[in-house]
Amino acid sequence: MTITKDELYSKLKKFFGFDSFKGNQEEIITHLLEGNDAFVLMPTGGGKSLCYQLPALCLPGCAIVISPLIALMKNQVDALREFVHTEDSAHIAHFLNSSLNKTQIQQVRADLLEGRTKLLYVAPESLTKEENIAMLKSIKISFYAIDEAHCISEWGHDFRPEYRRINETVNKIGKAPIIALTATATPKVQSDIQKNLGMTGAKVFKSSFNRPNLYYEIRDKSDAKREIIKFIKENKGKSGIIYCLSRKKVEELAELLNVNGIKARPYHAGLDAATRAANQDDFLMERADVIVATIAFGMGIDKPDVRFVIHYDVPKSLEGYYQETGRAGRDGGEGKCITFYNHKDIQKLEKFMQGKPLSEQEIGKQLLLDVVSYAESNQCRRKILLNYFGEDYPEDNCGCCDNCLYPKEQFDGQQQMMYVMDLILSLQENFKTEHLADILAGVSNSVIKSYNHHKHPLFGIGKDSDPRFWAAVIRQGLVLHLLDKDIDKYGLINITDKGMEFHSHPYPIMLTKQRTFTECDDDDDDSPMVRPKPGAGGGDPILLAILKQVRLDLARKLNLPPWVIFADPSLEDMSILYPVTLEELHHCSGVGEGKARKFGKEFIKVIERYVEENDILRPDDIMVRNVANKSTNKIFIIQSIDRKMPFEDICKAKDMDMSELLDEIESIVSSGTRINIDYYIHRAVDPDDMDEIYTYFKEEAHSDSIDEAMRDLGNDFDEIEVRLVRIKFISEIGN
Ligand code: ADP
Ligand code: MG
Repeated sequence: MTITKDELYSKLKKFFGFDSFKGNQEEIITHLLEGNDAFVLMPTGGGKSLCYQLPALCLPGCAIVISPLIALMKNQVDALREFVHTEDSAHIAHFLNSSLNKTQIQQVRADLLEGRTKLLYVAPESLTKEENIAMLKSIKISFYAIDEAHCISEWGHDFRPEYRRINETVNKIGKAPIIALTATATPKVQSDIQKNLGMTGAKVFKSSFNRPNLYYEIRDKSDAKREIIKFIKENKGKSGIIYCLSRKKVEELAELLNVNGIKARPYHAGLDAATRAANQDDFLMERADVIVATIAFGMGIDKPDVRFVIHYDVPKSLEGYYQETGRAGRDGGEGKCITFYNHKDIQKLEKFMQGKPLSEQEIGKQLLLDVVSYAESNQCRRKILLNYFGEDYPEDNCGCCDNCLYPKEQFDGQQQMMYVMDLILSLQENFKTEHLADILAGVSNSVIKSYNHHKHPLFGIGKDSDPRFWAAVIRQGLVLHLLDKDIDKYGLINITDKGMEFHSHPYPIMLTKQRTFTECDDDDDDSPMVRPKPGAGGGDPILLAILKQVRLDLARKLNLPPWVIFADPSLEDMSILYPVTLEELHHCSGVGEGKARKFGKEFIKVIERYVEENDILRPDDIMVRNVANKSTNKIFIIQSIDRKMPFEDICKAKDMDMSELLDEIESIVSSGTRINIDYYIHRAVDPDDMDEIYTYFKEEAHSDSIDEAMRDLGNDFDEIEVRLVRIKFISEIGN
């Protein structure tokens, strides 16, 4: 095939509207047009598609494009038809996958056989079907393009077994040049791909993977939710993606962000297609700023101005990480990539691997170790990443990652590593990191004692440092391949050959001093409270006293019991959070919008003055509001009461007993929502009793305590009655 440079440029302009090629596109295309195999390694957004689309339009015959993403094929074909303005554009590109019906398949075949189609996108599982092979045998193939080629390799982050059969099928259909393309090839993956496709002789076109505009940072996860909210608020109006590992976490985090006034949408494979599409659209059209997603989101999304990518959970491999962070700053502008990291997450991921075939485990473990080593390293992050992709980054300081901007202190850890190894050897490599760390730091607990390890000669040899320090030394030993961890055997630590060499001829090794990553769980699952717990103390006692006085004055003025205005935990919260706007006040425990509006003004005025006079730094100027538990129950209850549904029926519908229902209603009214339960009280409580209880709360009660009320009121009343009337009272007077 001979085509002049001028012709090529004129086709680039005619079909795609571009005046010039990007990166090494031209070289690649020319190479392919000359009938050679090509292996293209180009970062996400580099312009890989054009490398096969343009040649397909230039060459006789039809190009077969193999791509794993059925969902995106239609988009790609539509986009291509849009681009190519010829009268034949409806026939010029087609796709073949399981989403087509019989008639559509016939149309595709007819066009192919007539030679009108220049590009055919095929899913690998469709390609291997006998009838398709037979049909493709009868047409002229210009070349095969294998997009997202890393799917071939088990060492890639997105291995797909059906990709393994591509080579065999291609040989059945008939020989033609092959172009394989990927954005995430480590040297290992690269060689896998080439071997598997039988193209070891292909010319490799490798662009630099460096994305100079991306900023990389790893943070400790202990306060991740608050930090994320703060970060997004500081970056108002910018688009960002937050990746989580589980669907559950996606939903929770999206809800938390929304509750905190951030427009966020969830995205994961468990949502129905319509919701998923709508959420994605909201993000692309900027009706939402943030998309919280599993890694199902992002492939093929071409939003150029994503300003941040946050990994809430640690990624499973550096390739995945690079692909995902690569979605930030495609337009060359700002792109902040922040990952929250703790060891617990790594352990969780290791647990998932238990029981899997050994080879898969080995791979998963190595990929994860690379992530740990990246996260814990004190080297330039850019250098590590590029190195991982087989590229040399000559600078020592990139000036655009946390390690370069805020270097960490190092020390020679030769002696410490020797202690670790002596201990491991003396215990026959039979213990895990935490146990070893406890012995070295001299921490005695029941487990240590049960092995009599508090009497071990090395017990407490490093008691100047805490177990976290020793655990960090062990992890750095893993990263340096001096130590190894047996995942299948609960993570027992053993010593590698390299480690044994070190042990017999020790040499200085530089370790990082200050590891700030927490050992323990993050703010996850078990502990939903993000802000200081109300009533936990720690508030500002002077402010608290002032607020109590304000409450008392207001109570007298309004002729209300003080606790009806704000209960003590609310005031305590105020003395911790220093709210100065009604919205912020609303974040304090037990302060609903209604209450904030009704009573809040006085309080925030006083707090504002106090903050100013005493020069108080308010907590991060950010408060995190929690997602109300069982909020769906609450909504149901409020709606049912509006419709005057008997309480017994509400209980039945929600499978609660009366006392649980009253708990819910109490929490609804105490946060300031006004509801009218007269219809039920008239039936459930004698009118005289009601008056007596009501008057008690209004005139006698010193607090909102039910126990106290039961004591004061004597034995004539049923607790449920008292609680019902109290709800009525709080709702009418307080809200
Ligand atoms: P990749 O598959 O490598 O991630 P794409 O093929 O999706 O990248 O291309 C990324 C973006 O670059 C697209 O918006 C595409 O239109 C654009 N692009 C590709 N080639 C050129 C070019 N020669 N000139 C300008 N823009 C280009
Ligand atoms: Mg692509």
